[in-house]
Parts: sequence; C-alpha cells; structure tokens
Amino acid sequence: MYHSQETEILPKPVSKQSPDSIIRIMQSIATSMKRITLDEGPISEVHAFWLAGMSCDGCSIAAVGAKNPSVDQLLKAAIPGLPKVILHHPVLSVTAGDEFIESYHKAKQGKLGAPYVVLYEGSVADESIAEKFGGYWSAMGTEESNDGTHQPIPTAKWLNDLAPEAAAVVAVGTCATWGGIPAAAGNVTNSMSVMDFLGKDYLSSLGLPPINIPGCAPVGDNLTETIASILMFLVGLGPLPEFDGLGRPAWLYKDTVHRGCVRAGNYEEGVFAKNHGDKECLVELGCWGPVVQCNMVSRGALGHNGGCMNTGGICIGCTMPGFPDAFAPFYKAPPGTIVSGVASKTVGSFIRPLRKLTQGKNNLTERWKKEGQVPSGWGHQKHGIVEKVSGYFYSKLQGAGTEFKPNSARQKKLQEKGHSFLKKNIAEKRIEETV
Ligand code: SF4
Ligand code: SF4
Repeated sequence: MYHSQETEILPKPVSKQSPDSIIRIMQSIATSMKRITLDEGPISEVHAFWLAGMSCDGCSIAAVGAKNPSVDQLLKAAIPGLPKVILHHPVLSVTAGDEFIESYHKAKQGKLGAPYVVLYEGSVADESIAEKFGGYWSAMGTEESNDGTHQPIPTAKWLNDLAPEAAAVVAVGTCATWGGIPAAAGNVTNSMSVMDFLGKDYLSSLGLPPINIPGCAPVGDNLTETIASILMFLVGLGPLPEFDGLGRPAWLYKDTVHRGCVRAGNYEEGVFAKNHGDKECLVELGCWGPVVQCNMVSRGALGHNGGCMNTGGICIGCTMPGFPDAFAPFYKAPPGTIVSGVASKTVGSFIRPLRKLTQGKNNLTERWKKEGQVPSGWGHQKHGIVEKVSGYFYSKLQGAGTEFKPNSARQKKLQEKGHSFLKKNIAEKRIEETV
C-alpha cells in the first residue's frame, strides 16, 4: 500500500468539489506545485508510465482508438501549447527489456528530469497472497532480491513507488477505477481499485487525488481528452478540469447514457424491443441506461464509431462502481422498469397517434393539399377528413400569437408588395427594350 513520506505537509483529500473543497484542492495544488516546478523553464515534455494490473488490455485498445485527441497527437505534441507526451507502454513501446524498464527506474529514483503521470489499467491485486505461493499476479521488469536472484516487480509495487511523485495518477477502466470484474463476488485475489490501494490520503505531486476514467473498456476519447486537459492545467493554459466526487471528469460522466441514446425517443413513446436485433428501446431486454453515467453512445466506442446501444447491445452499467454485481443478472429488465416502463407505455399510447397525425400533415406540400392528391406513383399520402380537420386546428394553434403565418393577411400584403415591385421592374425593362 501507498505510504507517503510527506503526509504531514499535504492537506487532506476531499471527496466532493464543493466551493470549500475546491479552495482546499487549490491550496493543496499551490503547495504541491513547488515539488514539480523544474528549474529548466517551461515544461516541454511529460512522461506517461502505463502499468497493467489485473487487466485484459482492452483499455489500451480503447485508448489507441481515441480520435479527439488521438494518442498520436499527444505523442507528437500536435496540440498547440501542450507538452510532448513520452509514453512508456508495455505493449505499444518500441523498446523492450532493460532499455524499456530503465525510465521506470529513473522515475522511481527521481532522476527523470521531467514531470510524469501514471496510467494504471486493471485492478490492483493483493500481491501478498501470491507471494505466499512464491508467485505474483501481475508484474513488469525484475529486481535483485536478497538471495541474489532476480524477481519480477509487481505492478502494484510500481504503483506504490511511482505514485508519490507523479503529477497525476489516472485509473483507466473500471477495474482500475472501482475494482471491476476481478473484484466481483468471489474475489480470490483481493483485487481492488487504485483508489482503494492508494488510500484516501493520497494526493499526487500536483495535489490531485486519483483521477478515474471508468468503462469496460472506457471511451478512448475520455482518457485522451482528460489527459490533454490535465496537461493544459499543468502548463498553465487552462483551469483545473471539473471532477465529480468520485474523481470522474464531470463533463464526460455527469449525464446518463439514456439521455444521449439513439433509442431514447422510443423509450419516451413507450415502444420497447421484444427481441435482440429489434430497433426499439432495449430496456425490457435488460438495459440499465436510464441510471448509468456514461457517454458511450454519444461519443462512440472506437474512432467515434459503434457504442453499446448504437450496435444493439444493452447497457450493463460497466462504468459504475457497483459493476458487475449490482447489475446482475444481465439480460433481465431492471426492477425500476415496472414503474417507468408502464408510465412510458401509457403516455406513449396517447402521444404516438397524435404525432402521427402531425407528421402526416407535414408530409404534404400546400399544392398537394389543395389538389387533394400526391403526384407520385410511390404511394398514397393520406389526407382524409380526419387529417384535414386535425391539420386545420393544429395550424391554428401553431400560428396563434404570431403575425407571420402562412397565408396570413400580413404575409399576403408583403407578397403583393413584392409582386408589384417585380411587375413595375419588368414593365420598365420592356419599355427600355422597345426604345
Ligand atoms: S436502449 Fe437503454 S439507454 Fe437507450 S433509450 Fe432504451 S433504456 Fe435508454
Ligand atoms: S453504455 Fe453501459 S455497458 Fe456500454 S460502456 Fe456505457 S456503461 Fe458500459
């Protein structure tokens, strides 16, 4: 577990960004900035150390699919004003072995000469359990032990060693942010989140508690955009981004996925899918979207494409701290659907026919209405007595309180004025041509 040598000089972490807590975070940052200020001048490079605990590497895949900004843009310092990110990643780096691990050791020894952030993917397993059996859960690099042999260094130890001087520790994905699947019921490895591992008193050298980007896997943009905004803050180009009480970037995670869902209109009208593959709202098939904080469907999964309900999948709440146990069993309608689903169906059964009438009226031009037919062999747009009567009253309501409505006296007057201007001009032009 993390043990800060400077605990006594650091302010206590805060759990919510209330005005008081913002002041305390800013004071903590002011104190902590002294620890990362470099004599060399403006920050031109920031190292990013990627660590993988109990993970499937899916978060790495999600990160490389980011578009706004892309990992490439961050690595090339293509965003004006932002420092170059030097990424050390066990899968993506081109170096290997001792050459690859050297920078991690330098950072640990305080010899890097540039600020760094730690990105942790996967949950943090309790290595003391594995140690009892002479093994490890997840490790990277080796170090000489007391008996002269070289032993793997658990990534939990790297986290413990690198976190104190990191400008920020970012937990990437639900396993790292909350514990996720490795920490679900039956957790034999005693897996936990980065927050649980570092403890509530942890603050980075920039004065920040761990930053959490949940999702299984998270939207890649959520990670790169958050890193970019932290870098902006680090170089003095932007304010401290807004985080919620659980350390999530508030602007990315405050809304429910339901609010941005492509099927939300179906929910509102009480039309629900009966089978997988149907195009309607998936709530009766087990979708938890109305209560889950996630921007997956509005941002897209990889390169702004795909994303759960966009591609027919239900929301199983993978961004939430309770995941997966709180959302199991999957594929069963959430109990709240009994109330909200019935309410939507009741209101929808009344609203849908009314909308159909209005839609029919607006699918006709004025000419077709007068002629009473649509000049097309494709189909027959209905404009019977019901449509005519409802359309008449709807138009009356639509124009109530305004002067500018189609065929109003004022519009006719304006049109006549325009016509007389045109007629006059045409007449004058003819006289000129005759002369
Ligand atoms: S599919 Fe899920 S998120 Fe989308 S509208 Fe239905 S309940 Fe909401
Ligand atoms: S929509 Fe639901 S299942 Fe999909 S990523 Fe978001 S929280 Fe996870």
